[in-house]
Amino acid sequence: MTGAAPAPERCPRCGAAFACGAAGAAPCPCTAVRLDAATLAALRARYTGCLCLRCLHAIAAGADVGPPAAAA
Ligand SMILES: [Zn+2]
Repeated sequence: MTGAAPAPERCPRCGAAFACGAAGAAPCPCTAVRLDAATLAALRARYTGCLCLRCLHAIAAGADVGPPAAAA
């Protein structure tokens, strides 16, 4: 942590740029998305970083943990 403005992250699932609150001062909005323990474990096994809110909401709604393109 250098104290500089947090650089935008890139969602490892969909590739969209987003800013994870974990890198800034405010609480990460992803903490407001409720995922069950099994889903969280799958996410952590697959990705090292945070996902964008859009993906988190999609996964919370039952979408596959993998990239959207693979779910078609
Ligand atoms: Zn995403």
